[in-house]
Amino acid sequence: MPEGLEAEIWRRAASVLVGRRITDVWCDPRISPFGLEEMLRGARIDGVDRIGKVVRVVTDRPALDGGVPGAGSSGGGALGLHFGMTGRLEIDGIAPIPRLEYASGADRPEWDRLRVSTQPSSMLDGNAVPALRMNDPRRLGRLSFDEPITVGPDALGLTARQLRLALDGRTARIKTLLLDQSVVAGLGNLCADEVLFTAGIAPHRRADELARSEVTGLARACRHRLRSMLAAGGSTHGVLSPALRVGPGTCPRDGTPLARTTLGGRTAVWCPDHQS
Ligand SMILES: [Zn+2]
Repeated sequence: MPEGLEAEIWRRAASVLVGRRITDVWCDPRISPFGLEEMLRGARIDGVDRIGKVVRVVTDRPALDGGVPGAGSSGGGALGLHFGMTGRLEIDGIAPIPRLEYASGADRPEWDRLRVSTQPSSMLDGNAVPALRMNDPRRLGRLSFDEPITVGPDALGLTARQLRLALDGRTARIKTLLLDQSVVAGLGNLCADEVLFTAGIAPHRRADELARSEVTGLARACRHRLRSMLAAGGSTHGVLSPALRVGPGTCPRDGTPLARTTLGGRTAVWCPDHQS
């Protein structure tokens, strides 16, 4: 599923929309709050930000009561794009991530969940295209407007101190906690495995049994490893590649056969030699 890295790639691409006026909106009513189209039509896009795995298009519409503007947002009413398992985004007719590794490569119009037109309009090869289009075959993603999103510190900039505080007193397994968005924001299954692999920590370790130096190393792995994966194209660009994850593979670092463990309903792929 799209993780914080994919959301960050889409956020950066969508920043070209800032300053444009929304002229038309269509959204799938099954995954949208009531009245969303009317709320957005005519609004100006003032910013695009990200909270964990959610991309938010901040508008000049007033924020709704109870809305909690996200960090770095300009505080206006924000359209939230929640990508679920297979949601993907096109901006001005171009997909910054051409194909999600874990989803169908097909792109059918009936899987569209959101289409936004803007002024200036978006042209591609002489044809008008939506400025923003969300396509989701499985329809597990959704749209929100000014929904409070409460998450822990973002994984991409995670400091050792933030991680120590987030894990303080927690007895659950470290992999399970890394996937909990209220503990650390933005990590999905692939990135959680990748940072534990980088830090040399086994996924089933209890958080309260990690040494201080291990927590420091894990935070460093989040900052550095995730940034290089982001530059390479997202969560499927780790050392534990999708091909390594599905087959019987060996650790790229030491050649030990990789182990697979189910934790909290998700498959953890890890090296029983250098991760302890
Ligand atoms: Zn290894």
